[in-house]
Amino acid sequence: MNNNNFLFDDISSIKGVGKKIKNYLKKKNIEKVKDLLFDIPYEITDRTKISNLTELEIGKIQNIVVNVTKYNFPRIRNLPNKVLCSEGEKKINIIFFNSNEYYIRKILPLKKKVIISGKVSYYKNTYQITNPTYIKPIENSGDIIKIFPKYHLTEGLSEKVYRNLVSNTLRKIKEIDEWHSDNFLKKKRFKEINTTFFNLHNPKNKINIFSDDLRRIAYDEIFSNLLVLLKTRKIIKIKKNEAKKFSQNIERKILENLPYKLTNNQKKILIELDNDIKSPFKMFRIIQGDVGSGKTILAFILAAKICENNNYQVAYMAPTEILSKQQYYFAKQIFKSLNIKIEILTGSTKNKKEITQKLANGDINIIIGTHALFQKNIKFKKLGLVIIDEQHKFGVKQRLKLAKKGGNDCDVLFMSATPIPRTMMMSIYGDMDISRLTEKPIGRKKINTYIKPENKVLDIIPILKKQINLNNQIFWVCPLIDDSKFLKYSSAIKKYDFLEKFFPKNVGLIHGAMNENERNLCINNFKNKKINILVSTTVIEVGIDIPNANTIVIENSNKFGLSQLHQLRGRVGRGKKESMCILLYKDNLSENAKKRLKILRETNDGFKIAEEDLNLRGHGDLLGYQQSGIKNFRFADPIHHKDLFLLAENEIKKIKKDEISKYNNLIKLYDRVELLVENI
Ligand code: ADP
Ligand code: MG
Repeated sequence: MNNNNFLFDDISSIKGVGKKIKNYLKKKNIEKVKDLLFDIPYEITDRTKISNLTELEIGKIQNIVVNVTKYNFPRIRNLPNKVLCSEGEKKINIIFFNSNEYYIRKILPLKKKVIISGKVSYYKNTYQITNPTYIKPIENSGDIIKIFPKYHLTEGLSEKVYRNLVSNTLRKIKEIDEWHSDNFLKKKRFKEINTTFFNLHNPKNKINIFSDDLRRIAYDEIFSNLLVLLKTRKIIKIKKNEAKKFSQNIERKILENLPYKLTNNQKKILIELDNDIKSPFKMFRIIQGDVGSGKTILAFILAAKICENNNYQVAYMAPTEILSKQQYYFAKQIFKSLNIKIEILTGSTKNKKEITQKLANGDINIIIGTHALFQKNIKFKKLGLVIIDEQHKFGVKQRLKLAKKGGNDCDVLFMSATPIPRTMMMSIYGDMDISRLTEKPIGRKKINTYIKPENKVLDIIPILKKQINLNNQIFWVCPLIDDSKFLKYSSAIKKYDFLEKFFPKNVGLIHGAMNENERNLCINNFKNKKINILVSTTVIEVGIDIPNANTIVIENSNKFGLSQLHQLRGRVGRGKKESMCILLYKDNLSENAKKRLKILRETNDGFKIAEEDLNLRGHGDLLGYQQSGIKNFRFADPIHHKDLFLLAENEIKKIKKDEISKYNNLIKLYDRVELLVENI
């Protein structure tokens, strides 16, 4: 019944694929039958036109219809055979090298009308075609007058051979079973999968991403991606041994001590989190919120609820030591009046042994730290919640791994400040429940953004002086644009020297070659206002919260994605003061590049920026997307196939548990299967 398997057969099962061709195909990454089917033409050669001998273009492949007039077979070695053909008064020579007279007489019988296709040249006042690609009697002209698909070929593979392989494969595709229902196909104007493949390789018009056939495979690609995430989700969202109990008292106590009120959006998410931990199923949720939108407090309120009534422990993992410390002090402060024991564990923690012991005994309620938290020797007495801050560093596989680590009763909450355009949300986070935090805390001042050429850098000095006189602080970021280790740090070091001249003893420097201690010292000096300017490479991680810093200068800004710049810019604008971001660029900026930077100047809405970033650069460049571990889409395009992304999202919701297996081949077909790690 299920014949789809031939799609996954080795390419050598196709007629015409011997050892040699198999090797050539391998260079094109074609190893299985499906790879050949997915290698769709990128263009067409239009051979539908018949040219008159009066309008031939030299150097181009053309079709002509002519009478065979006269043979000229010189019986001298190395001289080609010639056949003179005519159309009315006009003449053309058809030239054959290394040919056989009898063969020529057969395909070009005297006085017969034939159609010939080939590259036209001009020699001694006469047109000629040398070694024509096709010659057919006029009755069979249909074989020539066609639109031909063009493929990207490698050395050793001719178009003719390749097209032959494709047609040999297409002959077999009748055997493929369709995975979508007739009803669905009809509604969406999609053809059955075998017809779709056939059409894609037999294009009648220019290849077009809006064509129904391309949209069909694009849709399948998106859908298979969502299926994998759905499967992953099923693996994760298992039944807990016990739903967690908690009271709202603790939330009230924490909120009473906060210097601000939660926004409505924050309150709504707290309810979603409550529902998750009450539920009998494991929580697997992400809070997606722009930088500075106030995610941390939500995570800690949840953490307090979990450890209050259940003796559960909470692990809060941040991507860096600096962020771990920041969250640790923040937690200490908000839990001041509560009976919650908090500790920190990072690579540089001195009393590791003691902490490990306490964790195992249940003497610590909340542990904050880097990935050191999940080393093998760390055992928890009763882990009830894992919080992963700035999750964009994790791909699907890692998420799954983390979810399993805590055991059956451990809920998992991710937080990400990487705004993902609405269209891509499910493709990236489809395995999780998603809470979106789109509202910023009230009272945030706008970040005024300026765009300046780097040679105007001296103009910035008085601006910085003024800020420092107002007791404000400044980030100066030299993002990495080169992988070379030396260049990585040299730009930051140079800038440090430069700024030190204007602001002696008032500048700090952090970069990747420094050790944690040096870095921490520097950050602390900045936090404690011992210095006003902090020069750094991108170690200024997302998440660093220093509200007194109100100015950020970003070098090489044109080299970065808008979302990335937006995240960097999010280091300021956190306090009550008016903030400023200066984007420096090198060289002459193209109009398009200017347009991009202007978007940043005009809006501070991360989701809007992500959307624009997607429109201008494509999804391959989207921050978060690259890190999600999901391979690039090959056919689906989040800009031009927006509707298909939303359609797939809708359809996946309708799928019943026992229906997923129906699509197993679809998942395999798009190579999404490697995202699935069932046993880790
Ligand atoms: P992010 O969402 O980027 O992790 P944080 O949680 O670090 O942002 O919050 C940024 C800053 O905003 C912190 O100083 C935090 O205390 C503050 N904050 C959070 N919620 C509110 C609110 N509702 N009103 C005012 N300030 C808030
Ligand atoms: Mg944060």
